[in-house]
Amino acid sequence: MPTEALIARLTDLLGPKGVVTDPALVEPHLVEWRGLYRGSASVVVKPATTEEVAAVVKLCAETRTPIVPQGGNTGLVGGAVAEAGTVILSLARMNRVRAIDKAAYTLTVEAGVVLADVQKAAEEADRLFPLSLAAEGSCQIGGNLSTNAGGTAVLRYGNSRDLVLGIEAVLPNGEIYNGLHGLRKDNTGYDLRHLLIGAEGTLGIITAAVLKLFPRPRDIATALVAVADPQGAIDTLALLRERSGDTVTMFELMSRFSIETVLRHVPGTSDPLETESAWYALIELSSPRAGGDLQNALEEGLGEAMENGWVVDAAIAQNDTQRAAFRRIREEISDAQKHEGGSIKHDVSVPLASVPVFLARADAAIEKLIPGTRPCSFGHAGDGNLHYNLSQPVGADREAFLQQWEAANRVVHDIVQELGGSFSAEHGIGKLKVHELEHYKSPAALEAMRQIKRALDPYTIMNPGKVIAL
Ligand SMILES: Cc1cc2nc3c(=O)[nH]c(=O)nc-3n(C[C@H](O)[C@H](O)[C@H](O)COP(=O)(O)OP(=O)(O)OC[C@H]3O[C@@H](n4cnc5c(N)ncnc54)[C@H](O)[C@@H]3O)c2cc1C
Repeated sequence: MPTEALIARLTDLLGPKGVVTDPALVEPHLVEWRGLYRGSASVVVKPATTEEVAAVVKLCAETRTPIVPQGGNTGLVGGAVAEAGTVILSLARMNRVRAIDKAAYTLTVEAGVVLADVQKAAEEADRLFPLSLAAEGSCQIGGNLSTNAGGTAVLRYGNSRDLVLGIEAVLPNGEIYNGLHGLRKDNTGYDLRHLLIGAEGTLGIITAAVLKLFPRPRDIATALVAVADPQGAIDTLALLRERSGDTVTMFELMSRFSIETVLRHVPGTSDPLETESAWYALIELSSPRAGGDLQNALEEGLGEAMENGWVVDAAIAQNDTQRAAFRRIREEISDAQKHEGGSIKHDVSVPLASVPVFLARADAAIEKLIPGTRPCSFGHAGDGNLHYNLSQPVGADREAFLQQWEAANRVVHDIVQELGGSFSAEHGIGKLKVHELEHYKSPAALEAMRQIKRALDPYTIMNPGKVIAL
């Protein structure tokens, strides 16, 4: 428990606005999105500047007080869960756009800017910041970078890591690392930017970043497509990339069951296709060139895919309202699945060509382990990334089903490993997957990670217990 004396010193540094101890105001910081964990910390600090973050970290290093950085608290692996005795450091007050450079296509923002506001700032300057995910109304750019978030536009623009030119951070000893430049070229030794991105707050606190911008899309074509099977989806993706001048920005695979959960539980949604199929794809093409060529390219490409037997039915959005309705079906899957009872989650990636074999093998193995389980498979299939979530059998006991979490993970992750994939494609390790990292990562990689952690954070104050077990 942080002592009265520590709280008094934190208040001296940040003023009363910067230190929260009222249990009702601390509460939202203890709730974890999936309900797997519950935090028990009693203090939240809310610094407003990088210097204030540095001062807090110095004090915590001196008193050996563990710190849990927190952004929008939308992470899905318990990375922002704070145990009793830790201080939660919220970046919420560091929410300024510091600079925009239209000619250089860069945007400099503080870590606490909500992702949707980053997108808006880019748009106001007639530019695009392409990172996009269903939690964008609450997650913060600092959290996105700390988890190296993926989302729906990775196929074209890359992960968060690919969207950052420079970073400012406070290291575990309280020193400020100022790498906040917009240089496209800078080969001056180890790149701390890439060490901090994806570190989930275990190596320091990201306080600001220079982000890459892109020209805004002026031609967009979107389709919701029933495919014959996952192989048909992959073949269609390859064809569309070729036929559209490589303008495919989004390619999301969805099983019939995942779509049905949305149609059943989300008011205002409807089945956009007459033909029922076991698999669907949400496809979007976009280009900064105006002119309407993409709708034609999409129609022609899908026509060819139909002739090849890969696509069985397709609806192409005729306006923005239809486009939004198609996207909504994909975005609502995670929430809708909650109404189907207990769910065991997987966030895996495999080489693209192995997506069909992964799905077939995993479905068979899970049916053997827990008969009647309903796989709710969907995800960023263009990147080989699937959220292979398992809904409990109808009528089963929720708690008994969830007790099979680790057994199901082992079965699924072993298949992923055999196919040369990753057991955590985009959500990270956090608290949830520390033991999976121990199990699957090579001893050489684990030892190097431990040495880095010990070197930068000798007192283990930075988000202890997350990512790597020491
Ligand atoms: C509905 C929904 C959809 C999602 N879809 C996707 C998706 O498509 N792709 C995807 O990749 N993720 C997705 N996520 C997961 C989540 O939104 C992302 O991981 C997001 O990037 C987390 O940002 P946050 O600000 O909420 O971070 P938090 O949850 O607050 O923190 C996440 C981790 O980062 C650390 N951290 C936060 N801020 C900082 C900082 N400034 N410096 C250092 N460490 C920090 C925390 O300690 C924690 O370990 C989704 C989540 C939800 C709820």
